[in-house]
Amino acid sequence: MERTLAIIKPDAVEKQFAGPIIQRIEAAGFRIRAMRRVHLSKAEAEGFYAVHRERPFFASLTAFMSSGPAVVMVLEADGAIRKWRDLMGATDPSKAPAGSIRADFGSNIERNATHGSDAPETAAFETGYFFAGVDLV
Ligand code: GDP
Repeated sequence: MERTLAIIKPDAVEKQFAGPIIQRIEAAGFRIRAMRRVHLSKAEAEGFYAVHRERPFFASLTAFMSSGPAVVMVLEADGAIRKWRDLMGATDPSKAPAGSIRADFGSNIERNATHGSDAPETAAFETGYFFAGVDLV
């Protein structure tokens, strides 16, 4: 079993899409091993996205991610990292497949409803960022 970090981003939480997104996660066969609602500070968002600090959209992305509450989760499944990214669809919702979470709930390339770790190393860093010392039950 593999674990990945999922975030329901502030745009989707604001629009009350957390429920339908969690429903899709469970219907796809993931186990939610930990979950909490967070309102990141700008500094916490910058720490989470530190690998992107040289990207032109870093300031905008971290302002967005600290703009309101988000829901963070540890998801578990066989091949959870790939499986969750497939369920989300492409970064840009307009390029994501019909029926994917980002196509259905995202607004644009930045406000794209959800986040998912992209590799085992980032999954380990990202789950630790929010759930260090927390029991995964
Ligand atoms: P992901 O792995 O699909 O989330 O995509 P990336 O790791 O490339 O980017 C991280 C996050 O930054 C994305 O989920 C978007 O919220 C945001 N982002 C990515 N590309 C752009 C862009 O070109 N412009 C803006 N404003 N935000 C972007």
